[in-house]
Amino acid sequence: MAGLWLSLVDRGGLEVTPLRAGLRYAAAPLRRSEVFGCKGRPVSEKVAGMSMDTELQKHYALLLGIGSPWEVKTVELKLQEKKVEIELGWQWGQSAKCPECGRACSIHDCAPERTWRHLDTMQFATLIRARTPRADCPEHGVKTMQVPWAEPQGRFTLLFERFALDVLMASASVSQACELLGIGWETAHEIMRRAVERGLERRQLEALQHLGMDEKSFGRGQSYITLLTDLEQARVIDVVEDRTAEAAEQLWQTLSPEQKQTVEAVAVDMWEPFIRTIEKEVPDADIVHDKYHVSSYLGKAVDQVRRQEHKELMAQGDETLKGSRQLWLYNPENFSPEQRSEFGALKDLHLKVARAWAAKELFSQFWNYQEEGWARRFFKGWYSWVSRSRLKPLVEVGQMLKRHLENLLTYLKHHITNAVTEGLNSKIQSIKAAARGFRSFRNYRIRILFFCGKLDLYPL
Ligand SMILES: [Zn+2]
Repeated sequence: MAGLWLSLVDRGGLEVTPLRAGLRYAAAPLRRSEVFGCKGRPVSEKVAGMSMDTELQKHYALLLGIGSPWEVKTVELKLQEKKVEIELGWQWGQSAKCPECGRACSIHDCAPERTWRHLDTMQFATLIRARTPRADCPEHGVKTMQVPWAEPQGRFTLLFERFALDVLMASASVSQACELLGIGWETAHEIMRRAVERGLERRQLEALQHLGMDEKSFGRGQSYITLLTDLEQARVIDVVEDRTAEAAEQLWQTLSPEQKQTVEAVAVDMWEPFIRTIEKEVPDADIVHDKYHVSSYLGKAVDQVRRQEHKELMAQGDETLKGSRQLWLYNPENFSPEQRSEFGALKDLHLKVARAWAAKELFSQFWNYQEEGWARRFFKGWYSWVSRSRLKPLVEVGQMLKRHLENLLTYLKHHITNAVTEGLNSKIQSIKAAARGFRSFRNYRIRILFFCGKLDLYPL
């Protein structure tokens, strides 16, 4: 009969349901005597609803990846509850391994029975029950042994956890994964939390060369998060609430001292609190100011010049700049033919905004230099032109760039930007959108690291 059951499982047969196969088993209960519970008590006095057939036990032992001295004691099919319960037992007389030092010790007693959720058997939720022996270690005292099918505090078998991680990763939303797995939101969160913890611990050994630090708005109102990203692998290293110096400093604590030494450069905006923590935490790393941030500062300056000029022109009844905002901000390469001719006409009108725009466009050359000396010369010329332009917003940005020139020149060496972080940002936004019910930032962080951390999440 075990053969029938097995072949059904193997073929995934649907004509004869496993329910019926299970019923046949239930009709022929057997007793086993060679497996014992703790303290040598025979365990199979109460015979389960399903017979204990050697083949079936072997089958489940194989599925679970367990071997002597663990054994499948009973396999119980609970038809009403649509459950299979597998009871595992420890062969009496075998020594137990201390979980601390691995020494073979005598068994003190057994821990109370625990239950682990395993992969479903067909549509039946499958649970494993066992009392785990407690080793009596001369050095560490009485310690519960580690079981081979689950992690120390886990409520699932390793196989279930692996599967759940795959489903969570592949699902459009966590609630969809919960539905597929037949687990609750809390349980899913717990699986993700443990997976992230595992992944973070393993990541401690990896070298990290190019990092990015950036802030993002989070939730409604003026809330922010600060992200540390690995620019090589396009992944989030860690995330903290807020965008203060303290928050930024906290971010660095996720790296081990050895890892900090491997960091060669960090891409960051020209924001003092961030810069200071980088100088403090990774003093040997170069700071590289992000070229997209620079471009956005210049873009804002162009816009301010346009607004001011438009106001002045309108006061004289001149509508030249009306509706031209986007033209000065867009990349001319992306213009439509109409926009191109409209912009071409505007550009030639000797407007202030056209000069500001030209200064912004010209600056993009800075990033193309190979030699630092040439880039310095270029900057000197650009800056001298800008500072004589009498366009206040542009002069201010020019001064800021001059103050940070050394950390703009580092770009020529490392060629890093936070563009990767921008890409991750959309993924983070979708996590946020899909999880409006986040009760705390801590949970949100787990999700970000789970989906954007590229961590090694699987249990061993
Ligand atoms: Zn020990």
